[in-house]
Amino acid sequence: MRRVALDRLLPIESNLPMKTFEQVAELEKRYLLGTYNRYPIVLTRGKGVFLYDLEDRRYLDFVSGLGVNALGHAHPRIVKTIREQAGKLIHVSNLYYHEYQGALAEKLCTLLGSSFGNARAFFSNSGTEAIEGSIKLARLAGHRAGGEAKCRLVALDGSYHGRTFGALSLTGQAKHRKGFEPLLEEVTFVAQNDVNALRAAIDDNTCAIVLEPIFGEGGIYECSVEFLRECRALADRHRAALIFDEIQCGLGRTGTMFAFQGFGVTPDIVAIAKPIAAGLPLGAFIAKEEFASAISPGQHGSTFGGGPLACRVALEFLAIVEDEKLLENVNKVGAYLHEELKAVAEKKAAAKEVRGRGFIQGIALEIPARPIVDEALAEGVLFNSTQDTVVRFLPPFLLEEKHVDRGIRVLKKLLGKKRK
Ligand SMILES: *Cc1c(COP(=O)(O)O)cnc(C)c1O
Repeated sequence: MRRVALDRLLPIESNLPMKTFEQVAELEKRYLLGTYNRYPIVLTRGKGVFLYDLEDRRYLDFVSGLGVNALGHAHPRIVKTIREQAGKLIHVSNLYYHEYQGALAEKLCTLLGSSFGNARAFFSNSGTEAIEGSIKLARLAGHRAGGEAKCRLVALDGSYHGRTFGALSLTGQAKHRKGFEPLLEEVTFVAQNDVNALRAAIDDNTCAIVLEPIFGEGGIYECSVEFLRECRALADRHRAALIFDEIQCGLGRTGTMFAFQGFGVTPDIVAIAKPIAAGLPLGAFIAKEEFASAISPGQHGSTFGGGPLACRVALEFLAIVEDEKLLENVNKVGAYLHEELKAVAEKKAAAKEVRGRGFIQGIALEIPARPIVDEALAEGVLFNSTQDTVVRFLPPFLLEEKHVDRGIRVLKKLLGKKRK
């Protein structure tokens, strides 16, 4: 593993293109806020399920840029669409109409299906912003239904909803919140799948229940159908919005277009982002009409959100998922990945449990996951670790069984190694 001594403040040659890992890492170390603990490779290009570094070493990608590159890298139809649209119109602001925002909203509302009924979308630039917008809308609807006091939010222990103050206030992990308090005080946390705690937390002053149907960053834990049904019933009884954060698990990753469709429980508001515009920044929340109608012009907005380039690419993304029958692939290869991971968990003492479905899965280890991920780099495979002991798999929807075999071989080898 390469490590660089970086405390010198010497001039750094940053002429592009840069030639070495050290050059890139030293420049960042000097000039970037110290927020990231990156893996020690510099990626320069990708093709399908593979990425290449500065020295043109190839890596099999089980991470997809944290669930963003669902179509892999340099998908020809995405490249063509970006080229074409970039030459016409990238940005107009939301002062004006363009052709693609309404069309994308219509497509998403159709994909939500009849259980969602009439719905409306708002476009943001990120997942966190989609959460912020969702809870602002839930507050408006709550105040309309029950006055100022109807402002309380319910979220889950161990959840992850993003880094801004509103989204962080809903994130049930001390390690992310620490140092930033006070956060929103109107949030009550309950343990995932604890129906009694849920009942105790919700009353007429609750304006929203916010949850990920499958925890992503939190370590790949699924909500039970029973728990989600109780959320639905309590939200209805107390006229609160049921908000699903499908930023990581939505848009095909579980094998259905929206994760909630696989659980059979329909939320009132759904937040999406990661893969929607194939790597361009775009997020959205979509609300049933009865909640959507609580907002008026001027109450929310975005300079960049929902621009012509991002929206047109998102339409292309959704078309490709359909044309290439990628949900079928996620279901088929996801089931294969699950079986293969389970076989690893049974055979290797260092592995404990396999969780998740489709192309959002994790294997929980008895040992720290980061060294496994670091060592996999040398084997030409990109994994990702979360919650210290979980290796997380968020591969591109294009992944095939032969790629799974390769990843499993590497995982087995690394889990079989003697460690102190
Ligand atoms: C990534 C993620 C977010 C935050 O999205 P950003 O685009 O990073 O702002 C929120 N919720 C979930 C479940 C996520 O996985």
